[in-house]
Amino acid sequence: MLDFAIIGGGPAGLTAGLYATRGGLKNVTMFEKGLPGGQITQSSEIENYPGQLEVVTGMELMDKWPQQCQKFGLKHDMNEVLNVSKDGDIFKIKLSSGETQEAKSVLIATGSVPKAANVKGEAEFFGKGVSTCATCDGFFYKGRDVAVIGGGDTAVEEAIFLANICKTVYIVHRREEFRASPHEVEKLKKFDNIVQVMNHTTQEIVGDNMGVTGVVVKNRDTDEEKTLDVMGCFIFVGRDVLNQCLIQEDGKSLCTLTDSGEVVVNLKMETNVPGLFAAGDIRVDAPKQVVCAAGDGAIAGIGAINFLQ
Ligand code: FAD
Ligand code: NAP
Repeated sequence: MLDFAIIGGGPAGLTAGLYATRGGLKNVTMFEKGLPGGQITQSSEIENYPGQLEVVTGMELMDKWPQQCQKFGLKHDMNEVLNVSKDGDIFKIKLSSGETQEAKSVLIATGSVPKAANVKGEAEFFGKGVSTCATCDGFFYKGRDVAVIGGGDTAVEEAIFLANICKTVYIVHRREEFRASPHEVEKLKKFDNIVQVMNHTTQEIVGDNMGVTGVVVKNRDTDEEKTLDVMGCFIFVGRDVLNQCLIQEDGKSLCTLTDSGEVVVNLKMETNVPGLFAAGDIRVDAPKQVVCAAGDGAIAGIGAINFLQ
């Protein structure tokens, strides 16, 4: 029986583990289906984590977090959590290994995954020219032309990252104004090899048996279509929260969710189910920042200690 089960090993889960173990909880396990660190490990450039004077990659930022937690006794179980339910006072955690783990308290810190743009060719060419990670796949397009779809902070930042590797980067956004912060947009404008394709929707990603060969875009005012001749298409159109493990056999969620699937919590990161916490990108109104996810995690870790007392 675990005192505290943490589901997800991103900034929120790791920080909860740090605070819970350092605060005295002995039997704390973090379930992480991949390597710890979370989605930020896919970022090429972070300059807004407090105290960090140098611009670092996500990998660099997260490098020491798991070791720091292990030092205080956090255990890491490399399993995906398929389901969390509650039987009386005890949580049952169903794992991808087939086992079920019991816990007295649980934190949901499962974060989010890239949203699909839902354009023709996206699924067909995924991994064959279509990508959602510039840090992972950008190098394959060294000296080549690529397209980036989206207008938020991720699209703009990753377009800049790609501009340092690729010949031309077309950034295709469906409106005239970027959603990204003005600071990032100013940086983007300094790159001669980034072509802004504004007010255009993406109609189709086309290719052949070798992979992507182009992206068809349409001007929203004139309906005029053109094909951008690119070998790679990077899609950054937002993120979907990962709440599937909360869904019960009857289709209802273990705790209250918003219409868009985020977990409703109070300022102590408590859900409406006693002993069940949520932190980071998965929770309602999350600012979706590493520092905020870490802060949420600290609150949840302290909350678990108080709950068990
Ligand atoms: P995540 O980081 O998403 O971690 C969740 C973890 O849970 C993942 O490791 C996942 O594998 C695991 N998991 C999910 N479901 C399960 C399951 N069922 N069982 C087991 N494990 C599971 N923020 C900034 O502050 N500054 C930036 O510059 C910045 N740049 C970004 C650039 C990119 C490209 C992206 C994608 C994000 C960026 N962000 C940035 C946002 C930041 O990464 C997130 O806000 C933060 O990582 C959220 O942390 P989290 O712990 O809530 O979730
Ligand atoms: P986001 O802010 O939700 O932006 C998504 C972008 O994709 C928007 O420009 C949106 O257009 C566009 N879009 C959505 N669906 C589309 C579709 N089907 N086809 C074409 N375009 C589509 O997502 P994000 O950029 O991934 O950022 C997520 C969160 O992480 C944000 O809160 C962001 O601030 C944060 N983040 C922060 C940093 C940083 O601090 N440096 C870096 C990365 C991410 P519209 O604008 O028209 O809606």
